[in-house]
Amino acid sequence: MAGQQQALHTQSLAELAKGLSKGEFSSRELIETLLSRIEEHDRSLNAFISVTADQALAVADASDKARSKGEAGTLAGLPIVYKDIFCTKGVLTTCGSRILENFVSPYDATVVERLSSAGAVMLGKTNMDEFAMGSSSETSYFGPVRNPWDTVRSPGGSSGGSAAAVAARLTPAGTGTDTGGSIRQPAALTNTVGLKPTYGRVSRYGMVAFASSLDQAGVITRTAEDAAMLLSVMAGFDERDSTSVDHPVPDYVSGLTVSLKELKIGVVRQHFDAGLNEQCAARVKDALNVLEQQGASLIEVDLPNLDLSVPTYYVVAPAECSSNLSRFDGVRFGYRADGAKDLLDLYRRSRGDGFGAEVKRRIMTGTYVLSAGYYDAYYLKAQKVRQLISQDFKNAFEKVDVIAGPTTPTPTFPLGEKTDDPITMYLNDIYTIGANLAGLPGISVPCGFVDDLPVGLQLVGPHFAEETILACAHQYQQLTDWHQRCPEAYQ
Ligand code: GLN
Repeated sequence: MAGQQQALHTQSLAELAKGLSKGEFSSRELIETLLSRIEEHDRSLNAFISVTADQALAVADASDKARSKGEAGTLAGLPIVYKDIFCTKGVLTTCGSRILENFVSPYDATVVERLSSAGAVMLGKTNMDEFAMGSSSETSYFGPVRNPWDTVRSPGGSSGGSAAAVAARLTPAGTGTDTGGSIRQPAALTNTVGLKPTYGRVSRYGMVAFASSLDQAGVITRTAEDAAMLLSVMAGFDERDSTSVDHPVPDYVSGLTVSLKELKIGVVRQHFDAGLNEQCAARVKDALNVLEQQGASLIEVDLPNLDLSVPTYYVVAPAECSSNLSRFDGVRFGYRADGAKDLLDLYRRSRGDGFGAEVKRRIMTGTYVLSAGYYDAYYLKAQKVRQLISQDFKNAFEKVDVIAGPTTPTPTFPLGEKTDDPITMYLNDIYTIGANLAGLPGISVPCGFVDDLPVGLQLVGPHFAEETILACAHQYQQLTDWHQRCPEAYQ
């Protein structure tokens, strides 16, 4: 049997699920294979902050045993990695920060709880920009993540660890969070699929908060089918998250094959303005043509306030983060500085040592825009512009079912290239941030290469239209093989 069987690390979750249920291999064999790949390859990537090998093998054994008794959940014995922003009971949860360097969570996030109850096996926790603030996975206290397509380049961020691990075939799937693009952008830059669901579709309980009105949990996989499998388990109301929405959860997998014949795809005029790399534009246009050949129609739409999305986000997100991160005070969680003179000094030193430069920049900006004299001029104004941006999407969705375009303006960039220039770094998310401000679902799917570096096609739908964007992405993947390409050193 071995030899004929496709190597385990190259298989998708859906393929692995079939193999496990046919008894072609055990969960222990699968998990051992992936753990040894992590051991061999993570030195070159720094995708993991923790590897939970013993726990993973114990869960795999339990899963094999349960399966032999005919009791297997939908994800039984299948591997997953969690961005280190998800609380995992008894396991280090650092959020990429020194301030949480030693924080062991006493409970599981809802996402973790649901995936574990369905039988998923955690391989480890993945590296990320500190508190998910960044687009390159370089602001991590644990060092930068490297892109398997070229290890001197960034995998994108902030969920760069999960994206790099999936791209390098160290795991078929990982979770991420997306506040302004942190699932879709790294997916685009690593040739993986990244799904950010509708705001409120997946519980944020147990996810370390960055900007609560924007944060949403999702997944990074190699296929839209796998994203659908995971979303079916993760989604749904949770009374512990007051912003989670009580809306029925469809079986996303069975929705993958709905016909694209009548589908109206919006192509945003502003997406193809200056700023988009010409070769990326060409790959995206090729992808749009593939969808058109399936019977979908392409219709030009406008998002007139698109260029305001980045400045709006960089008022709203820092404002919310300055409030959320006030809980890290050296008393309640994580790192505490030694030798403080008094309470104020303890706060100052613990936060001064514990947070990195980007986090401090955001806290200062956020505190400023919320301060009495500037609240109206910045925060209130940003909230109004946020409404305009949401309205632009509503207007567009009166004419079309999905919006398709580039995920990022360029392919991946060398590590260090943008770290001294935060504004250039922020512009990476020009095409992704709008969906967060409007709470919409979005997916990035591999659509080709520029100079051997991956490019992503982004599909954004109306609220709760995950089925449509997943179907569109899945059928595109049936017609193309970009997602099957793997960086040479990780085959
Ligand atoms: N790159 C954006 C930021 O730095 C978005 C991050 C995210 O989605 N978590 O805030």
